[in-house]
Amino acid sequence: MSAPIIEAIETRILDVPLIRPHGFATFTANEQPILLVQVKLSDGSTGFGEGVVPGGAWWGGETVETMQVIVEKYLAPATIGRKASEISGIVHDWERHVANMRFAKAGLEIALFDAYARSLNIPLADLLGGKFRDSLDCTWALGVLPLEQAVAEVEERIASHGHQSFKLKMGSGDPATDVTRIAELVDALEGRVSFRIDINARWDRLTSLRFLPVLAEAGVELFEQPTPADDLDTLREITQRIGVPVMADESVCSPADALAVVKKQAADVVA
Ligand SMILES: [Mg+2]
Repeated sequence: MSAPIIEAIETRILDVPLIRPHGFATFTANEQPILLVQVKLSDGSTGFGEGVVPGGAWWGGETVETMQVIVEKYLAPATIGRKASEISGIVHDWERHVANMRFAKAGLEIALFDAYARSLNIPLADLLGGKFRDSLDCTWALGVLPLEQAVAEVEERIASHGHQSFKLKMGSGDPATDVTRIAELVDALEGRVSFRIDINARWDRLTSLRFLPVLAEAGVELFEQPTPADDLDTLREITQRIGVPVMADESVCSPADALAVVKKQAADVVA
């Protein structure tokens, strides 16, 4: 039996309502836009993927709107008409048509895998090598909230979903104020759960070397991307000096980026 042909690719932008408003340092989000990508195969199978970035172009330059154009105008013509069993080759060939644009490519790639697994009538995990674990710990992201509300939300998530790990954003406000806010929250929970912070590459070297030790002392267990994405020397220095795991996120958008971080030992963890 030969593999079905990829016949159509459709996209739509969905504004998914959040279960509660999420306060960032500079704005409050009530919904999360996603690009939903649908792939249709010649045997009638259909698969879905989604491209998601944290609200707007500030994180990595892509948005759901740019993803839609890239998928429809540039990736779809390089994909339609090919066999659903050729996903690795198709994804490889995209590089000749579109540089970077990882989130657009991810949304379509996920949809291709979903469609092909449905066409084979097997779980997607089987197509990718088989199930490895049944569950996975999940970090809950807290918005920017007053202390009492943040504590209440942590308590509620422990009770309702058993969350043990919480993530906080910082980096847009005054560092001293932010550090005080987070140290108070960690202190209020008295070691019952773990906290990690994501600085989204907003701090420079000296700000990081001054304030990260304070957060480490307060009990924060992981620091995500404190400094700019392309400065691996500084990320490495922080990783070596702070003594708490450092995660690279904005610094790693491709396999080549990941290799550079590993070779330089610039981080302990990659997102
Ligand atoms: Mg991050």
